[in-house]
Formats: sequence, C-alpha cells, structure tokens
Amino acid sequence: MEPSQVAVIGSGLIGRSWAMVFAAGGFKVKLYDVAQQQLTSALENIRKQMKELEESKSLKGALSTEQQLALISTCTDLKAAVEGATFIQECIPENLELKRKIFGQLDLIADDNVILSSSTSCLLPSKLFTGLKHVKQCIVSHPVNPPYFVPLVEIVPHPETDPSTTERTYALMKQIGQSPVKLNREIEGFVLNRLQYAVISEAWRLVGDGVISPTDLDLVMSDGLGMRYAFIGPLETMHLNAEGISNYCERYREGMKLVLNTFGPVPEFSGEIEEKINQAISEKIPVVPEVLGARRNWRDECLTSLAKMKKQM
Ligand code: NAD
Repeated sequence: MEPSQVAVIGSGLIGRSWAMVFAAGGFKVKLYDVAQQQLTSALENIRKQMKELEESKSLKGALSTEQQLALISTCTDLKAAVEGATFIQECIPENLELKRKIFGQLDLIADDNVILSSSTSCLLPSKLFTGLKHVKQCIVSHPVNPPYFVPLVEIVPHPETDPSTTERTYALMKQIGQSPVKLNREIEGFVLNRLQYAVISEAWRLVGDGVISPTDLDLVMSDGLGMRYAFIGPLETMHLNAEGISNYCERYREGMKLVLNTFGPVPEFSGEIEEKINQAISEKIPVVPEVLGARRNWRDECLTSLAKMKKQM
C-alpha cells in the first residue's frame, strides 16, 4: 500500500525535525522551502542526523535509515508540494505577515479534506487563520524543540476549527509517536510557554533580589524539580506528595498562598539583572557558535538517553 503523504512547509530547524518524525512514522514527506539552498542543506543534515541516530541505536520507527530517507523528497513548488498530502505542517519563520501569506496561498490550493497545521510557538490561531475559506481544517500543532526527542505537541484549535480536525490531528500525532495534548481554546503562550514563563519570571526575580546565584538557580531545576517533572507533572506531584490532591490542599493551601502572595510584578528582563545573569551564564557557556553548538549537542544527547529510558520504563 502506498504510504500516506504529508507536506512540511519550511525546511529550517523545526521543518527538518518534523520531516524526520513523519518519515520515522512511515509517511511520505514533501519538504518545501522558498530557498533551494535550505532544502539541500536540510537533506544533508537529515541524512547525517539519521546516520548518527542509527549508530547510537536511537533511530525512531520500524524502517531503516535508507527506507526513511527514501520517503523524504524536496520541492520549491508549493502546489506540487501539497498535492496528495493529507496533512500540511507549516514551519516558516515566526512572523505573522509571512505566515498569513503562506496560509492564504495554501487556502487557495487546499482540498476540503487536508489539515492545515502551523508549528507557531506563540501566534494565536485566530490571528493566523481567521478569514480563510478552509478555517475548519486549520489548527496549531506546536512542537517542542527538538521534536524528535521531546515528543510533546500542543494542539490548539481556532474557534471555528471543526472538532474532526482536532481529533484527526491528535490521532496522527499519536500514530507518529508524538505526545499530543489538546487545548480546549486558544490562549496567549498556549500552556507550555505559560508554565515556562512563570518559571523564568520567578527565576529572574530570585536572582535579581540576590536570593541565589544564576548558576545555582539553574541547578534547582536541573538537579531538583526538573528530575521529577521528566516523569510526573505538577498536579500528580501534589497527589503523591500527600495522601491525594485534597489532602495536599488541606496541608499546604495556606503555605502556598502565603508564598505566592510574595511574588512581585512581571520583571522587565532588562538592565542590571539582565547583565548579571548574562555575565554568569556566559562565563559558564561563552556565546561563541562552537561552544553553543557543542552544548546543544550535549543537551540533545541527554534528551536522547532520557527518551530511551522513558520508553523502557
Ligand atoms: P528557521 O528559521 O530555522 O526555518 C524557517 C525556514 O522557513 C527556513 O528554511 C526558510 O528558508 C523557510 N521559509 C521562509 N519563508 C518561507 C516561505 N514563504 N515558504 C516556505 N519556506 C519559507 O525557523 P524554525 O526555528 O524552524 O521555526 C519555524 C517555526 O517553528 C516557527 O513558527 C517557530 O516559532 C516554530 N517553533 C520553533 C521552535 C524552536 O525552538 N526553534 C520550537 C517550536 C516551534
């Protein structure tokens, strides 16, 4: 049987990763970009990554590297890229005008069945899709970088998105081994970034107020909270840290409110505190492309090991 086909629009960091995830799931992938050079480097990079994953026995899916590579082709013609696709994942730069333009083009050539999905990190579906003829088929599928190793996908519908679009997107994400979550309505920052910004905001305040050093602050997460959160979320943490949620609230409700009431306004993320944090973190990891690249590779290796371990559990 001919494999189902998807189109990935934009072959940068996220587009490449989506192409690999879909190919691992056995899908035929047409990777589209406005720049031929980007497509050439994307294919080279995907081949290199897959070889490395094969060597470290971390390649996803049931197919071999060569079989997965054979599923991915590139294209600079939008119409040809989406022809025959049942799902289109947009991954172009985070710019509202640019994204509205490409969805406008896709709207003209889409049939009534294909799903038009965006990787946007923070643009609301109502900003992206309002006015499109195929708005019922539009949705945000927000991945986490790097999607190959961090499986979460936030599925965020437009107010006019048909429930069947949400369900089909959810099922597809499950099928390719990602971990989808559904938002019932759109909200600024979706859920992941709202949680992330809450943490960043308090981290900034604690360092700014001189309570803790920047590097120790990061350790609180990487050697403390983060270890737990790789396995259970904050709500299950409450449940397990007492005799259930109600018991946790009974015990800690007042204490939590007392602490939360000492949180201040939204930080400016600039000035002296920015300088202090920048200096400390740059001392540990200088802002030099090779150093940043090596640290990112190390992070991805850690995530690969963690993903493997989670799969075995
Ligand atoms: P990127 O800059 O690495 O890649 C963008 C690609 O889009 C480039 O290859 C560029 O040539 C291409 N492009 C530009 N205009 C185009 C057009 N009109 N048609 C087709 N291709 C076009 O960006 P990225 O980091 O891959 O981000 C892509 C999307 O994914 C953004 O919306 C971003 O917010 C989202 N996202 C990024 C991350 C992340 O950590 N990088 C995480 C989650 C979601």
